[in-house]
Amino acid sequence: MIAETQAAGLDRELNPWISAEARFNQAAGRLALDEGMRKMLSLPAREVTVHVPVTLDDGRLEVFTGYRVQHSIARGPAKGGIRYAPDVTLDEVRALASWMTWKCAVVNIPYGGGKGGVICDPSILSEFELERITRRYTAELIDVIGPEVDIPAPDINTNERTMAWIMDTYSMHKRQNVTAVVTGKPLNLGGSRGRPEATGRGCSFVTREALKLFGIAPSDARIVVQGFGNVGGMGARLLAAMGCRIVGVIEYDGAVYNDHGIDVEKLMAHRRSTGSITEFGEAEDMDRDEALYMPCEVLLPAAKENIVTSLNAHRIRARVLCEGANGPTTPPADAVLRENGVFVIPDILANAGGVTVSYFEWVQDRQGYFWNEQLVNDRLEEIMVNSFHDVVRYSAQHDVDNRTAAYMLALDRVQFAIKIRGIYA
Ligand code: GLU
Repeated sequence: MIAETQAAGLDRELNPWISAEARFNQAAGRLALDEGMRKMLSLPAREVTVHVPVTLDDGRLEVFTGYRVQHSIARGPAKGGIRYAPDVTLDEVRALASWMTWKCAVVNIPYGGGKGGVICDPSILSEFELERITRRYTAELIDVIGPEVDIPAPDINTNERTMAWIMDTYSMHKRQNVTAVVTGKPLNLGGSRGRPEATGRGCSFVTREALKLFGIAPSDARIVVQGFGNVGGMGARLLAAMGCRIVGVIEYDGAVYNDHGIDVEKLMAHRRSTGSITEFGEAEDMDRDEALYMPCEVLLPAAKENIVTSLNAHRIRARVLCEGANGPTTPPADAVLRENGVFVIPDILANAGGVTVSYFEWVQDRQGYFWNEQLVNDRLEEIMVNSFHDVVRYSAQHDVDNRTAAYMLALDRVQFAIKIRGIYA
């Protein structure tokens, strides 16, 4: 019975939508939002479920379930990625959509928040099958997406290829090229320079600012990265370029550690040639959990939700937790980290570099005029650094932790937009 209650408690803790609600409620309470506004902001504005029929390569007909949730369009069109994974749930997509609303508000770009997901296992689907799923999913959503309505982007297991298919499908339906319907596209199809690196680059900027705050020189900063994909890999590469020491890298199939620092480029090359980061000559293989709990200045979780939970938060020995992933820390873990003095750069701030450069891509598409990479990176840096300091200042002013500060800042901006627009009836 006790075990069952504990399991139910853990189920709740690991449900991203319940986590999102808890964070929202905490910030809404501090802001003393009135009941009606609270209700409006806590529920997604629109949730669409589609069941997508697709003919597989062997001729069989399969049906895939997909979602698109638009949490808020108060500050602009809905914006957010689409993920493909076997364990996608509506609750997860809901949470991710609401996080996009708060994320866009924290960095003050003119978007609401949305997210999509398709329940499928890309590891057992061919490229052509993925293309058919993407095209039919896009066709089913044709009336709810659009450059002024809802703008998808890449997320877990989707990439610029996927975005090109979405852009093409949408454009074929509209009978004209509509590049701004989606961001994270290939460079020669209306994509932006710097977009693939943007999330990792944003993480590196806010990490640098946090280290400065604590007077830690980059050369004294040991970094452990969990997830060595687009966000973690790029984040590690850029932090190493700043002079930090990447001491640990954790992936789904193992971890490597070297106190003297790991050559990120070499590790990437090793993985390209062997398919894994393990058995890398210049670092020792380590248990994944053990690597997560090694002492370090910065821990960068950059994969999925629920990495730091009530079960392991007390074992984290990082000075700074930079949340490259969405939702890597659960609310019960927050309390433990706070008690242990871990400085958390919350996801809605830390990983906002991706959507910020998505915004730049959308602006460039609409202007038909493309920027050089330096301009993209400089503008990204300005937004990330200013937003970081806005949150830190807000946290000191209101005597709340960084996450609550970021949520409060975001909620306040969104509720302000709703109030001046008024409620359409
Ligand atoms: N999927 C990314 C995120 O979670 C990027 C979203 C976007 O660029 O719209 O922030």
